[in-house]
Amino acid sequence: MNCNHCHSTSFSILPFYYEWNSHRFDVVRCKSCSLITLSRLPNDEELQKLYSEDFFTFGAHTLDKLGIDYETMADQYGLETHKQFIKNYIEPYGTSLTSFFEIGAGMAHFLQAAKELGYAVDGLEIGDVAVRKAKEKFGIELRLGDFEKLDLSSLSNSFDCIYAGDVFEHMRDPALVVEKMYEMLRPNGIVVIKIPGTFNLLSSKIASMIFSMTNKSKKLPDKPYHLYEFTTKTISNIFLKKFQEVTVVNTIKKPSELNKKTGGIDYAIKYFLQFINYPLTKITNRFGDRMTVIAKKVS
Ligand SMILES: [Zn+2]
Repeated sequence: MNCNHCHSTSFSILPFYYEWNSHRFDVVRCKSCSLITLSRLPNDEELQKLYSEDFFTFGAHTLDKLGIDYETMADQYGLETHKQFIKNYIEPYGTSLTSFFEIGAGMAHFLQAAKELGYAVDGLEIGDVAVRKAKEKFGIELRLGDFEKLDLSSLSNSFDCIYAGDVFEHMRDPALVVEKMYEMLRPNGIVVIKIPGTFNLLSSKIASMIFSMTNKSKKLPDKPYHLYEFTTKTISNIFLKKFQEVTVVNTIKKPSELNKKTGGIDYAIKYFLQFINYPLTKITNRFGDRMTVIAKKVS
């Protein structure tokens, strides 16, 4: 296995793993550039199984345990929240923005918000259920397909903003994705992505150290949807390979806003550490539980 970013073949196994479809997927970190990935990426058949109808009902990220399906969650999140995001994280970084393209558009809530703000919208989605829903709900015709596999050369130099929310960590080849996004942008266009920072958090770094010292490992409570995990440093480096200007904005939940997915002692420790992590992220713009990356094609 070669590291997707630096091509090194040397990895350390972190004390976390997924167990799914009778396989174990260890979380590993490149010894050279620190990029975190899985010991083995799911194959095509497994990916299809991961993103079957189940993902958009109750399958995605233990939504079943929260008792909510994907559509209800997206509806509750609301178009206003997307509009606020566009105003705070996209408009200040763009120049003469007119057109948006979303990768992994789901049921097109984000694109509908952009459309209501006056932007021309286009997008791609891998799940056929979601594509149908986007048409029914908002009248938005998404392209159906896999961004990594589709030939999108006809869309070169076409958009001012490419957006992907909670999608980049699901991709098999981040380096290729960054290149394809760059090609699709017009000069001065921006890519804006939102990613989780699970392994960027102080609590994960500390848990990782403690588990390693005590020779324990922890099974993660989800399916192996996230093929890569990023820190402020690794995500910057990935985008800087292609883009000229990269900004990473770290955000973090207040301790009181943590969800109790795992419960028990793990949760108690995480809750306690969040009191340290929260001000630390606010001061340093690192160690956030979520990151927004804004990368500009300067030419
Ligand atoms: Zn590497």
